Amino acid sequence: MALRFYNTLTQELEVFKPLIGNTVRMYTCGPTVYNFVHIGNFRTFTFQDILRRWLRYRGYELNHVMNVTDVDDKIIVNAAKEGRSIEEYTAEFTRAFFEDAAQLRLEQPEHVSLATKHIPAMVNAIEKLAAKGYTYESEGSIYFRIAKFPQYGKLSHNDFSGIRAGARVDVDEYDKADARDFVLWKARKEGERYWETPFGDGRPGWHIECSAMAMEYLGDTLDIHAGGVDLTFPHHENEIAQSESITGKPFARFWLHSEHLQIESQKMSKSLGNFFTLRDLLNMDYAPEAIRYLLAQVPYRKKLNFTFDGLKAAARSIERLRDFELRIQSAKLQPGRSNEATERSEEAIRRFEASMDEDLNTAEALAAVFEYIRATNTALDEGQVKEDNRWEAARVLEIFDKVFDVLSPTPSSATLSDAAIEAKIEERKQAKSARNFALADEIRTLLLENGVILEDTKDGVRWKRK
Ligand code: AMP
Ligand code: ZN
Repeated sequence: MALRFYNTLTQELEVFKPLIGNTVRMYTCGPTVYNFVHIGNFRTFTFQDILRRWLRYRGYELNHVMNVTDVDDKIIVNAAKEGRSIEEYTAEFTRAFFEDAAQLRLEQPEHVSLATKHIPAMVNAIEKLAAKGYTYESEGSIYFRIAKFPQYGKLSHNDFSGIRAGARVDVDEYDKADARDFVLWKARKEGERYWETPFGDGRPGWHIECSAMAMEYLGDTLDIHAGGVDLTFPHHENEIAQSESITGKPFARFWLHSEHLQIESQKMSKSLGNFFTLRDLLNMDYAPEAIRYLLAQVPYRKKLNFTFDGLKAAARSIERLRDFELRIQSAKLQPGRSNEATERSEEAIRRFEASMDEDLNTAEALAAVFEYIRATNTALDEGQVKEDNRWEAARVLEIFDKVFDVLSPTPSSATLSDAAIEAKIEERKQAKSARNFALADEIRTLLLENGVILEDTKDGVRWKRK
């Protein structure tokens, strides 16, 4: 089975291979750092993490660039309100973003590029567009003339042939019904941060940021460009128009867009005020890995509805996985091998891989793992799993966890409730009286990893949090 992705550009599932050698050159649109990022944003970043991990599992190397938008209208307004420079203002939220991303176990892209550190590349891109006649100036701002790019609309599959030439827009986001010449460079405004250029003082538009930085690090044609579905139009459409007008070559071969995290059937967003940040949920004592699991479990092209019941169910799923891990590590097994158990493990891995290969179908991949766990637990009860099958089962979990990365608990005193700790202590007591000391030790270690220390006293077990 080949690895396939749904490409927004062609509207088809296509077999994926990098263009050059074994390295996937990928660009993803990063956060706008004007506030704490919400878990809707993190759904998109989690999808990109799963994508990275699966590409690597399939033997590819990664060259992944993610930008940080650290200059835009909202940033300028918010920083001014607080009387701080935009650098000072965004540094705090950029740091918070990477702390949150680390909590969610999101890998760092190979390059993280701050927009304000790449102004020369943007100026250079605008000059190239100007030299080719794609731009015009109005009141000190520079605009992209979309009528000069007849393929405008090919990503969002809109027919823009009837658009009004010369209608302009200064804001970064706008409706499909309202396709307009968009701003590449915004004229300097009193009191705003600006940069000096040959074509006037000002600051970059959002769209040119991504085109310029993507091409600077990755060349003219990328293998993958990804982002949330709301970026398809106008942001990515505009990136294509800018980049392809400069190079005359396709900008990205595969465009992957993730669907929204919703809450009560609406997009979670700052502007609607219906959002939770990661910090909100951690303060309610939810474990970061439960949030990661929740965000990853629904295939990225399906809408995902956020509920607290769903989050609790995610935590329970992780418990089931960890219980199984513990059981498979410590169960007393007869020597030898059961061919059936071997076949079961191999089949689980085959199903897991086939599901992930098919456009990262995480739901099917998880179903394969949980069916495997159910069947193996039954086989363990019946003594049908042997010593030589132990590592095979461990391998199923290892492969699962390379992608999902939820098995190891985040060290925190808050992740286990008192009742859960007491239940584990009871389990340990039973293991000891059954003389299963390996299991008893394992439970002690698990509790320790969760910040719980056990003390065996003559009156029984006492415990305390670290
Ligand atoms: P922003 O910081 O607004 O530029 O957004 C960062 C990323 O999060 C973009 O790829 C957006 O498409 C994505 N995004 C924003 N809201 C949601 C949501 N509710 N669900 C999933 N992704 C989102
Ligand atoms: Zn972008």
